Amino acid sequence: MPCIFCEIVAGRIPAKLVHQDDEVLVFHDINPQAPTHLLVIPKRHVESLLVLEAGDDALMGRLLRVARDVAVQQGLGPRGFRVVFNCGDDAGYSVYHVHAHVLGGRPLGWPPG
Ligand code: 5GP
Ligand code: ZN
Repeated sequence: MPCIFCEIVAGRIPAKLVHQDDEVLVFHDINPQAPTHLLVIPKRHVESLLVLEAGDDALMGRLLRVARDVAVQQGLGPRGFRVVFNCGDDAGYSVYHVHAHVLGGRPLGWPPG
């Protein structure tokens, strides 16, 4: 099975894009859990947080900064937002291509259920 997010990077599966640069893609989650729910992914396939190496530090830092930028662009700066990386079954990780969720537009409960 091809990786769904790699297929989106390749343009073979459509997505509502919000941002794209040489390393990072941002698009709307197909099943939003908040009024704004974006996914921030590296264009390069990285399976999960578990396989990160030192060489990935700059890429992951960039993901976070892009996550901040798109959250602010979407108007989430004043009220706040959440950036989440799931990993593994207990976190409900379902697409094995590392991604940050950017959630906002409503009060977000803590701790997550
Ligand atoms: P995870 O549970 O792995 O952290 O999050 C995967 C996310 O990808 C889910 O929120 C799910 O709704 C989203 N997703 C799965 N398939 C697609 C797709 O084909 N397009 C988009 N835009 N989002 C998807
Ligand atoms: Zn992938």
